[in-house]
Amino acid sequence: MNKIDIKLGIIVALIFLAGFLLNTLQEKNQEIKRLNLENEQLLTELDDALKAKSPKPKKIVKKRKKIAYQGTIGLVIDDFGYRNDAVSDGFLDFKTPMTYAVIPGHRYSSLMGEEIKKAGFEIIIHMPMESHIKTKGEEDFIIMTSQPDDEIISRIKNAFKQIPQAIGMNNHQGSKATEDRRVMTAIGNVLKDKTKYFLDSRTTKNTVAEETMSLLGVSTARRKVFLDNSENINDINNQVDELAKSAKKNGVAIGIGHVKKNTLAVLKKRIPELQKKGYKFRFVSSLLH
Ligand SMILES: [Zn+2]
Repeated sequence: MNKIDIKLGIIVALIFLAGFLLNTLQEKNQEIKRLNLENEQLLTELDDALKAKSPKPKKIVKKRKKIAYQGTIGLVIDDFGYRNDAVSDGFLDFKTPMTYAVIPGHRYSSLMGEEIKKAGFEIIIHMPMESHIKTKGEEDFIIMTSQPDDEIISRIKNAFKQIPQAIGMNNHQGSKATEDRRVMTAIGNVLKDKTKYFLDSRTTKNTVAEETMSLLGVSTARRKVFLDNSENINDINNQVDELAKSAKKNGVAIGIGHVKKNTLAVLKKRIPELQKKGYKFRFVSSLLH
């Protein structure tokens, strides 16, 4: 072997070695790359798995508190017909079912019948009837125990002529007349013919009104609480509490108030409060037996 051959041999060997090393290096690089990719894949999978496991962000929805039903209240407002002012207008602004009782024979009786009907409330006739104490006013309409049946019948019919929107009747005063079975029977017969109802205002403990109506087959109900015998705001509030208590205890309670400033103010505040507490307000016509 000469020197050139040896050199050539070394060069060839070096080239092979370099090639080998290069190849190994490339393989190593590929391996690293592959491992990196695998790592990346694993990390992505892990991330996905974590995302799937972690709870979804909760939507913040305010749950409306379910109000438990407390009872049903029927509100009757007596003595419409005397006035046509801010107070009577105020009652026509309620958004609650209310039953409004109009006295016949007064300056605004017919007008109130129309206005109340237009405003979407229930109308009844607030029939003036004889009381044990001195009875005065509404001479053409008042029901007296001294009147014969035909006079009573004609007065009841005239009242419905003046307020044709009325679907029922309750008594204005009448502590004497509602204790009289004959008088209540004469009234009840007209109501039966006209399919009107009678709400007993209960101005006397000895009333036979509700009982007589039931016997005749006239739909009827009774007043439970008077709201404003005292016009003091605190007293009216206490009476509203009484009414709510009775509705809760008995399922249904009917309260009677009057077209008066303080009654309006108290009811404006208390009706929405009671509704929020779970009390329902209904027309008297849906609370009859
Ligand atoms: Zn009255």
